[in-house]
Amino acid sequence: MRAHYLDDDSFSMLADRVAQTKCLIGPVKDGDNSSFKRIASRRDLRLDYTNSVVSPKFVFLPQLDELLVYDVKGGEAKATTPGGKEDVVLLGVRPCDSSALSVLDKVMGGKQADPYYSGRRQRTLIISLSCSEPREACFCDAFGAGPFEGTNDDITLTRVGNGYIAVPKTRKGAGFIKEFKEHFRPASRSETERFRSESDRIKQALKTRLSSEDVGAKMDKALNDDFWQELSWRCVECGVCSFVCPACYCFDVVDEAEGSAGSRSRGWDSCQFCTFSKMAGGLDPRPTKADRLRHRFYHKLQYVPRTFGVMSCVGCGRCVMLCPSNIDIREVIAKCQ
Ligand code: SF4
Ligand code: SF4
Repeated sequence: MRAHYLDDDSFSMLADRVAQTKCLIGPVKDGDNSSFKRIASRRDLRLDYTNSVVSPKFVFLPQLDELLVYDVKGGEAKATTPGGKEDVVLLGVRPCDSSALSVLDKVMGGKQADPYYSGRRQRTLIISLSCSEPREACFCDAFGAGPFEGTNDDITLTRVGNGYIAVPKTRKGAGFIKEFKEHFRPASRSETERFRSESDRIKQALKTRLSSEDVGAKMDKALNDDFWQELSWRCVECGVCSFVCPACYCFDVVDEAEGSAGSRSRGWDSCQFCTFSKMAGGLDPRPTKADRLRHRFYHKLQYVPRTFGVMSCVGCGRCVMLCPSNIDIREVIAKCQ
């Protein structure tokens, strides 16, 4: 699709205007790191970030999501589903996090769509930002998830000169550019040429080179390997790998009641917790730490791809950087090659 250009002043004006008319969520400075928050103006945004500690998946799947509240009065229960209906613009998302939505879309969307997830997904426009300097731990190109563009971008922004090239990828993205057309202009020939060479540079910028080819099929041979037991000795079952992962979606549902009123909420859960797969009656198909750790990797690299046709890892590198025991999915992939 046609490339547009916004210089830095136009970009600031656009961000300020969007923040006034929609819910604008983007990366902000958070101590020494970055996190995604609702922002009020361009001044809050930090677009020179590498990647946020927690992915912006919470926009679609909040860490704690109140599904309904009820009150039983006079023998009659009245339930309401809370939650805003605002249009959201998710700005400055890294391509890997945009690509991870393909997993959530398959699981939470589709024929049996989760109305909470689907509603948020439909109301949100995704503007991703090409990764000019990927981190050491990033390996998104192994899964076709970055670093130049994401698979669920409505618009892809790439830093070129003192501004951004904006390429609409969907009708929704083209509609946004039309709505705010006074801030965009067609990219000039020299901007388009610089954009092409920058995109070539970014595509070669990853330091970790990894192939995920046939990894799921090759994992069949590794199922009973001692490797899982040895790896699990290091795992402290903290669940960090699940919570920071943009492609993890497991949750628990909790009811709370007081008197005649109550609520039902769901919150993020982790397959690394010993209670996760325990069933009523005490049966547990994954009773040991090694079972649970092995399951995490088979789920991501074999079960989800076989069921839904997408890898459940986008190579964002978060679990690699944040696991307190240095358990590294890249080693697992290499082991199964
Ligand atoms: S982050 Fe590391 S230690 Fe924590 S549960 Fe995951 S694999 Fe285990
Ligand atoms: S498994 Fe790790 S590297 Fe892969 S998407 Fe999840 S957090 Fe990122």
